[in-house]
Parts: sequence; structure tokens; C-alpha cells
Amino acid sequence: MISFRLTPELEQLQARARRFAQEEIAPIAAEYDRRGEHPAFVIDRAYEEGLINLSVPREYGGGGLGALANCIVTEELGAACAGITTTIMVNTLATTPLILFATEEQKQAFLKPLCERRQLAAFCLTEREAGSDAGNVRTCALPDGDSYVINGQKCFISNGSISSLYTVFALTDPERGTRSMTAFIVPANLPGVAITKVEDKMGQRASNTAEITFTDVRVPKGNMLGRDGRGFAVALKTLDFARAGVAALSTGVARQALELATAYIQQRIQFGKPISEQQGLQFMLADMAMAVEAARLLSWQAAWLSDEGLPNSKESAIAKCFAADTAMRVTTDAVQLFGGYGYMRDQPVEKLMRDAKLLQIYEGTNQIQRMVIARSLLKGR
Ligand SMILES: Cc1cc2nc3c(=O)[nH]c(=O)nc-3n(C[C@H](O)[C@H](O)[C@H](O)COP(=O)(O)OP(=O)(O)OC[C@H]3O[C@@H](n4cnc5c(N)ncnc54)[C@H](O)[C@@H]3O)c2cc1C
Repeated sequence: MISFRLTPELEQLQARARRFAQEEIAPIAAEYDRRGEHPAFVIDRAYEEGLINLSVPREYGGGGLGALANCIVTEELGAACAGITTTIMVNTLATTPLILFATEEQKQAFLKPLCERRQLAAFCLTEREAGSDAGNVRTCALPDGDSYVINGQKCFISNGSISSLYTVFALTDPERGTRSMTAFIVPANLPGVAITKVEDKMGQRASNTAEITFTDVRVPKGNMLGRDGRGFAVALKTLDFARAGVAALSTGVARQALELATAYIQQRIQFGKPISEQQGLQFMLADMAMAVEAARLLSWQAAWLSDEGLPNSKESAIAKCFAADTAMRVTTDAVQLFGGYGYMRDQPVEKLMRDAKLLQIYEGTNQIQRMVIARSLLKGR
């Protein structure tokens, strides 16, 4: 039987996340967006509240919860600030390769210490020449005795300059190209790791995005995640898990825009009556609501498949793509419903619109999601 009712545990988790989002994130969101700064104290508080590292098993210091729980929390936090939520969500993105592919020894050495204290992690795949074409990675990790020596540069890395641990994708044999792509666990304090740029972004400005340069960074062979040459598979499996979370974050952003617009059009008087009495605007609101509901259900479906251990590549791509497009459309419509006031920084809807744009770009652009969906269909899946 299918049920759309959350379990009492998930309802409690949702209420806790909503309270935290409204009391501790929402009041400071605009200020940190304006400053383009990462509010470390809010991440400290999220850690104390147990709202970070949710999907890391309990024995390694995480929440021991699944993808669905992660979506429930992410939607709530996302409604308060997408940038701050991205900071929290990227810990899941960066730790998922360890949860799925690390040996017990690696989990004890890296995952447990990361989660037992309030620390951040980053997922380092993208390079200047390897964006949508992620297989075109040029960073190398060449074997040398008991170590690998990493050289290369990663760009647009969320949490890049505020993390203590990186999962890095590099080639162990450049002549074999993508077939030698391998994942490595790289502590951020190793000699040769340098932050060479911190990005100044259009939206999600409270999240940190940086370029990281690796120069002769020596990691022990024991830091290899999974098998040599399996890096692309590690990345894809991680993204399949994580995209349900991006869909949930998108749902949160869109939901917030819908709620603000619903309230605003009832109090804005033009032509002697609230503009909410105009049927054209009511229809806009209805379209926004339909999309928000559908986005949530798609994110839950992708997460549920993941929690059941079932394939979810197509479904997580559908959820991410639909929800991110929904966030963009709904926030744009919310600005429209606010009229000129919506375009001004005094009102919160312009931030939602700027934040939403990134949801269509990171963790695979929405064009790439459409490619994943179409390929899956053409293979009869
Ligand atoms: C703020 C931010 C945070 C990020 N965080 C991370 C992170 O933590 N870790 C990480 O590894 N990466 C991260 N990224 C990188 C992100 O995943 C890439 O930006 C994204 O995959 C697109 O790559 P690109 O920017 O090189 O664009 P390009 O690949 O150059 O794409 C440009 C345009 O062409 C389209 N396009 C490209 N190829 C095709 C095709 N075959 N068919 C149709 N259309 C196509 C794209 O959809 C896009 O519209 C982040 C990016 C941003 C902006």
C-alpha cells in the first residue's frame, strides 16, 4: 500500500527542522545573502540540533536516517535560505561516497571524525574543462610508492574553502582517461592544497563556492575510495542519491515563494480591491501550487526508491529537473505578483528568484538531467 502520511518520527523531524529554519535561519538569511558570507554559527547550531549528516549511519556519528528524511529536512531549511541549506546539503553530497564505497577502516579514519565534530566536507568533481562533461577531468593522482600524488584544479566547489575533508575525482592514468577516474579522500590541510579563488555569486550567496588547486598533494594509497578506475561510477551513484535532496531544496524555495505571493496579493489593493480577486492572478497561484505539490511528490518518490535500495537514476533526474524548473518558474511568478516591489531588495522574493537559478545548474544542469531521462527511456528503463 502507498501512504503519503509521514511516520510520527518523520513528522517530529519535520517540525524540528521547520522550527529551526524559521527561528534561526530565516531571520539572518537576507543579511548573509547581502554580505555574501557563510554564517558558521548557524551551521554550528544545525549540528547541535542534529540536522546535518542525517544520512550518515549512527555508528559514525550521523543521524542514521535515509534519503526521505533528508528530503523532509532539506525542504524545510530550503524554504528559509537556499544558500545556507546548500552548505548543509553538500555535507551529504561529499559523505555519500564514503558511506557507499569506503572500507570500514576508512569510515573509522575519516567519516567518524568528520561527523563527531562540527565539520564540513566538499565534493570535488568539476573542473574548467569538465563541467557537464564530467568525464573530461584532467586532475591526476599518479601512483608513487605507497602514495598517490595529486595535481590539478577543481572549480565551483561548494564548501570549498570552509571544509576539512574533500572527496576528489582524479585520473590515475591520463592515457586511459575516464576509465582511470578514481575517487580519493583528501584532508584539506595536506601540504599542496590551496584555495585559489572564492566565487562572488548571483544567488545562494550565503553558501561558499571556491576553486581548489592541488599541487603535488601526497595521499596514502589507503585514501583511495572504491576501486581504481571506478571513480565515474562513484560520482554517478552519489549524484543519484543526492539529486532527491536538490529536488527537496527546490520544493522549499518554490513553496516559500508561493506562500509569500499568496499573502501579498490578498493585501495589495489596486482598482479598489485586493489584486487576489483578479482571476488571472488566481490562476497563476493555482499553477504555482500544482507545481510545488508535484515537485515534492517527485522528490519523495526518488528518495523512497533510494531508501528501498532500488534503481533511481531516472526518477532522481526527473525529480531534480522538474523541481528546479518549478523553483525557477514559481519564484519568477512570485516576483511578478509582487510587481515593482518584488524587484526590490526590501522584499524577500527577489532573493528566492536568484537562489532558484542555481538549482537548475548544479549537481548536473537540467539539460543533463533531460539527457539522463531520455537515455533511460531509450534503453527501455
Ligand atoms: C554555485 C555552484 C556550486 C557548485 N558546486 C559544485 C560542487 O560542490 N562540486 C562540483 O563538483 N561541482 C559543483 N558545481 C559545478 C556544476 O555542477 C557545474 O557548473 C555544472 O555541472 C555545469 O557545468 P559548467 O558550469 O561547466 O557548464 P557547461 O558544461 O559548460 O554547460 C554550459 C551550458 O551548456 C549545456 N550543455 C552542456 N553540454 C550539453 C549537452 N551535451 N547537451 C545539451 N546541453 C548541454 C549546459 O546544460 C549549460 O546550459 C557548482 C556550480 C556552481 C555554479
